[in-house]
This record gives sequence, C-alpha cells and structure tokens, in this order.
Amino acid sequence: MSIATRYDEVLSDVHGECRRAGRAEQDVTLVAVSKTVGIDGVQQAIDAGACDLGENRPDQLVAKAEAFPQVSWHFIGNIQSRQISKIVRHAHLIHSLYEDRHAAKINDTAAELGKVQDVLLEVNVSGETSKSGVTPGLLPALVQFASGLPNLRLRGLMTMAPQGDLDAARDAFAGLRRLADEMRGGMDEQQAAAFDQLSMGMSEDWRIAIEEGATIVRIGRAIFSDDFE
Ligand SMILES: *Cc1c(COP(=O)(O)O)cnc(C)c1O
Repeated sequence: MSIATRYDEVLSDVHGECRRAGRAEQDVTLVAVSKTVGIDGVQQAIDAGACDLGENRPDQLVAKAEAFPQVSWHFIGNIQSRQISKIVRHAHLIHSLYEDRHAAKINDTAAELGKVQDVLLEVNVSGETSKSGVTPGLLPALVQFASGLPNLRLRGLMTMAPQGDLDAARDAFAGLRRLADEMRGGMDEQQAAAFDQLSMGMSEDWRIAIEEGATIVRIGRAIFSDDFE
C-alpha cells in the first residue's frame, strides 16, 4: 500500500471514529508524523491531502518545512535550548514544552521574530520514568509561569500514553483531559478560550484518544510504515 492510500484510510478512520464518538470531524486534527521518511514521503502525504505534519528533530523540521512551507509543521520532539530558534522559526505548534527555561527562551525568540508562538504543555500523566513532561503536580506552576509570557500562547496539553496497555492509555488520556479542564478553570476568559487543544493518541491508541476528547492525533507508522497493521 502507498503512503497516499494509507493516509486516505487513516483520515477516513479518524472521521469514522469521530462520528462514532459523537464528535464533529473538524474537531480532530490529524497530524501526520513524518519523522521516519524523507522529502519524498512527505511529498506523497501532502499530495494525498495532508496539511498538518509533525517532526521530532529540529534539523528535519527545518529541512522539511523549508521544502514544504505551504503546510503546517508541528514540533513534537525533545526541546534543547540551542535548537529553539530553529523550532520557533518553523513550528506552527510546539507540542512538547515542559520547562520554564525553555518557555522563556521560546518567548524571547518569538518576540525577536515578531511572532506569537502557539504551544502545548507536555504532561507525564502516567508517571513512567521513561516519559518526558511536567508532572501533574507541577503543571499549575508551569501554566502560571508560561501564561505570563506575552509571545507564547498556551493552546492546551499533550501527553504520550504508556505503550502496549490500552486501559492504561485510556486512563492517561482521561487524566489529561481532566487536567486541561482544571487549568482552564484558573484562567481568565481569553486564555481559557485559547486553551482548547488536547494532543493525544498515536498509531496504536488514537481511537481511544478520540473517545477521550483528543483534538489532535499524532500518527506516524500507520501512515508511513509498510509493516504497521
Ligand atoms: C513518533 C511519534 C508519534 C507517532 O508515533 P506512531 O506510533 O508512529 O504513530 C507521535 N508522537 C510523538 C511525540 C512521537 O515522537
């Protein structure tokens, strides 16, 4: 099967799952995570209609965003201080912010570029030590700090669920949604209105994520890999 065929199938599955969950198709954005393919593979996905793509390495983000500036690029990877200017230059949305010092630097960089950077805060809901993200306990302080930065716009939360255990994944997704509701409760009206995104769900668990309220699913292998089933 080609990338285009798989993209079409995943998109129509995502729409089907939205209907099944009683949600509107346009409430869920499919981010095609192209980190395992080159420019060629990205071209095929875009030809098939992909308009939101995700990368986890700054250099790949730069190369692909420069080749395809017409689509929206999502940065979903580990943030390192010295890579922030590359990321901010190209990212429509940064999904993986969880440190104050990176928030401050993204804010400064965005200000220099005359941009307001949309970001999600990554939360380690499951508490696995292998996962990055802020702990639920420290999230309120991070929200407080980041909401004071004029060139950052907090758009919501992101998480990665435990792999290989769909019940645990559901718990993590439901937990992220509750945390977002709690955070919204402490915001002024304008901030609360912007804080409307939940980035959760990957190739193995996105259906559950949509049931639990995901507004963005990040799907890589199911679109770009030959051997994902
Ligand atoms: C790679 C990656 C994805 C996509 O994972 P698949 O299992 O290939 O769908 C989603 N989110 C993040 C943060 C990733 O690094």
